[in-house]
Order: sequence, then C-alpha cells, then structure tokens
Amino acid sequence: MLNSRQGLVIAIDGPSGAGKSSVAKEVARRLGYLYIDTGAMYRAVGLRALQQNPELNEPQVIAAIAASSRIELKDSQGQLRVFLDGEDVSEAIRAEPISQAASIVSSLSEVRRVLVNAQQRLGAHGAVVMEGRDIGTKVFPDADLKIFMDASEHTRARRRQEDNVRRGKTISLQEMLSEIRERDQRDSQRADSPLIQTEDAIYLDTSEMSLEEVIQQVLRLAKERQGATMQNQVGI
Ligand code: C5P
Repeated sequence: MLNSRQGLVIAIDGPSGAGKSSVAKEVARRLGYLYIDTGAMYRAVGLRALQQNPELNEPQVIAAIAASSRIELKDSQGQLRVFLDGEDVSEAIRAEPISQAASIVSSLSEVRRVLVNAQQRLGAHGAVVMEGRDIGTKVFPDADLKIFMDASEHTRARRRQEDNVRRGKTISLQEMLSEIRERDQRDSQRADSPLIQTEDAIYLDTSEMSLEEVIQQVLRLAKERQGATMQNQVGI
C-alpha cells in the first residue's frame, strides 16, 4: 500500500501494558516516521468528559465533547505532548481515573467515529507508526505491517505499576491487576471496534523480551515489508 504514501503504515494494537507505546515511539524515531498514540486522544476526551459529566452517563454530552475538542499531538524534544484545546494535558491524561474514563468514552460509536477520522487523516501520507486497539482492524485495515503486541497479565500490571511509580503514584500490584482486567475486558467486549487479534497481524508476546529486543523485531519486520512492498510496486 506504499503507492501514494511516503513510507509504511505500521499498526500496533494490543492490551494495556503490552509495551506498545515505548516500542512504537522508538521504532518511529529510528525510521524517521511519525508516531501517533491514539490512546492519548481517547484519554483527552475522557479527561474533558469527566470534567463535564463526572458520571459519564450522558452519551450525547460526551459525543459533543469529542466533536468539539481540539486534540493535538506534538513532539517536544523527542517527547510526545498532548494538547487539549490549547492546554498541555500530557501528565493529567495518564492518571488512573482517566484510563478508566478513556475506556468508557471509547465504547461510544460517536466518539470513535470522530477520532478514527482524525487518525486516518494523520496517517494518510504513510511513514507512520500508530498504536492503539483498532488500528489494524478499523483505522488502517490496509496497513503494511500489523502487530498484535501482548504480554502476560502479571507483566502488564507490573509495567503499568512502574509507569505509575515514575509519575510519583503508588498503586499496589493487586489494584493494578484489577484495573487492567476491567479495562481490557471492556475494550475487548465492546460492540464497536473491540480489541481483537486478526489473522493478518503478527502476534508478539513481549513478556520475556527486553524493550530493545522488541524494537529490533519490529524493525526487522518493517524492513521485510518495505522490501516486499517495493517489489510489488515494480512488479517483481
Ligand atoms: O493505550 P491507552 O491505554 O492509553 O488507551 C486508553 C484507552 O483508550 C484504552 O483502554 C481504550 O479503551 C481506548 N482506546 C481505544 N482505541 C484505541 C486506543 C485507545 O478504544 N485505538
């Protein structure tokens, strides 16, 4: 699908704590590609929704928030910064209540429609690594490389717990386990764009792999796909 694109579209999907963000960000940096964290967009809507409708029980209010909010992802010295209506919310969106809020608002089709549209525009020129839950199934079903990244539940909870500690938040492994279980279950069972592994996605279990090993593996796959796509283009 490279034809009108300037590089590959690499889709990385999987449950929370599988390592998607760290890997996608670094693969994008090494390839000189754009990195899009679609979860950050759902988190931004979740943050605003919690402010305006703390019960998260008014779908039409939440849909209006998604349609009217200006969400921008900007690179600042190699760090992704997330802006919501001009305000830097990069740290605020990582709090655990926002993780749950993101998961709840993301089950609304009206919200997904708006964000998926924006994501398709962001990736239209290719040369992009996009991570989320529905990139290979909904956002770019024709992606050149689809990876389903996973890890054991315990590993995923531990990674998320370490992320929280880095941000100065103490949370027990048990609490983290129940948080990710609840979220993964909701994300996998929703009617619109559930998290699923498709047949054309390469399954990567990162439980026993170092970050660098996963990055190398994805880069290797990307190189293979790049070669295959170019051969297709010249009709070899
Ligand atoms: O990836 P992250 O954990 O930041 O995503 C937060 C939430 O946003 C997920 O639990 C999921 O409910 C939602 N999401 C989604 N589709 C995506 C990315 C994230 O529904 N493509």
